[in-house]
Amino acid sequence: MTPVYLDYNATAPIKPAVASAIGRALEVTGNPSSVHSFGRAARKLVEDSRETLAQIVRCKSSEIVFTASATEANNLVLAGAGRHRLIVSAVEHPAVLKTARAVGGEVVVLPVDANGVVELAALEAALKEGGADALVSLMLANNETGAVQPVAEAAQLAHGRGALIHCDAVQGPGRLPVTLAELGVDYLSLSAHKFAGPKGAGALIARDGAPLKASVIGGGQERGRRAGTENVAGIAGLACAAELAADDLANRDRLSGLRDALESRVIEIEPRVHVFSARAERLPNTSCLNMPGVQSETQVMALDLAGVAVSAGSACSSGKVEPSHVLRATGVSDAISGCAIRVSLGWGTKPEDVDAFIEAWRALYAGLTNRFRSGISGAR
Ligand code: PLP
Repeated sequence: MTPVYLDYNATAPIKPAVASAIGRALEVTGNPSSVHSFGRAARKLVEDSRETLAQIVRCKSSEIVFTASATEANNLVLAGAGRHRLIVSAVEHPAVLKTARAVGGEVVVLPVDANGVVELAALEAALKEGGADALVSLMLANNETGAVQPVAEAAQLAHGRGALIHCDAVQGPGRLPVTLAELGVDYLSLSAHKFAGPKGAGALIARDGAPLKASVIGGGQERGRRAGTENVAGIAGLACAAELAADDLANRDRLSGLRDALESRVIEIEPRVHVFSARAERLPNTSCLNMPGVQSETQVMALDLAGVAVSAGSACSSGKVEPSHVLRATGVSDAISGCAIRVSLGWGTKPEDVDAFIEAWRALYAGLTNRFRSGISGAR
C-alpha cells in the first residue's frame, strides 16, 4: 500500500522540476561573493532567482532578503522594524506570537471571530494610540484552519495611523495570489517548502524605505540585511517553486472540489463533525475537522497506521493533549477542538487519496464507536 500524504500545510512534496533546479545549482562551485568566474556564476544564479521571485510577488528585486526559513524572516522583521508596539492576531504562527513576546516591547493580541478571522474593529482600536510606533503582523491565511485574513484592509487601517504592517504569507503561494502590491503591506514572509520547494529556504520582502535592522551580523550579504553565504541551491529551488506555484493558481477549483467532497463525505458518516472556519473564506486545500470523542493524537496515529498522513489540531505539552491556540481562539469548546485534525491537500493529491482518507476515517470511527458500545474504552 502506498502511503497517502495529506499534510501539505506542514510541508509540500518537492516537485521534480524543483529538485532538478536544485541539483543543477549544487553543481555550481563558487561563493556568490567571490569575484572570479566561479563566484560570478553563483552570484548570477542568486540574482536571477531574486528577479524571478520579484516578478511573481510584484516587488523590486532589491526588496527581497533571502533567509533560511519563514521563521527567520518573521524574527528579522519583528525585531528589526524598529517599532515598540507589536500588534498581532491571536491565531498567528508561533514564529510570530512567540517572537513578538521575546522582542521586549508592548504586545497587543487581537481577537478573532468564531471563524478564526481577525476582528478589524479591535485592530482599529489598538491603532488609535501609538500607531506611529506600531508594527502590525497579520498572516495571509491560517496554517491550521485555512481561514484567510483581511490583510489588505488591515494594511489600509495600519497605514492610516502611521503603523507599519507585515504579512506572514507562508500558506499563500499556489493557493492565493500573493503580491506586495495587492496586499499593500510593508513586509512579507515566504517559505519555499510550503510551496513544493526545498526546506531551509525562505524570504523576507521589505518594501523600499521600510526600516529593517539585521539580526544576523557578519559579511555584507543581502545588502547588509542578512549576513552569511547565500544558500545558492535553496534559493534556486525557491525561485523555481515560486514560478510553478504561480501556475498552480489555475488549479484552485480542483483542490477546493476535492476538499469539499472530503468534508461532505465525513459529515455523511457523522453529522456532528465540526469543520473549523467553515463560514470564512478559506484556502482551497485545507480542512480542519473533528472526530467526535476521539482525541487528535489518537486519530493521527491510527490514520498513520492505516497509511494516511495528516496533522493534529492540538499539541501535546507536559503529557497532556492541549487544543491549539488557534482553535481555542475561535471560542469552540476544548472537547471539540481537542478532537480536531488538519487535512491539507496539494499539487499531487488525487481523488483516490481522498477515498483512502474517507475509508480510513470511517473504519477508525466505526471501530471506536463499536468498542465504546461494547464497553471497552479504547479512545480517550
Ligand atoms: N508561518 C506559518 C503560517 C507557517 O505555517 C509556518 C510553518 O508551519 C511558518 C511560519 C514557519 O515556516 P518555516 O518552516 O519556513 O520556518
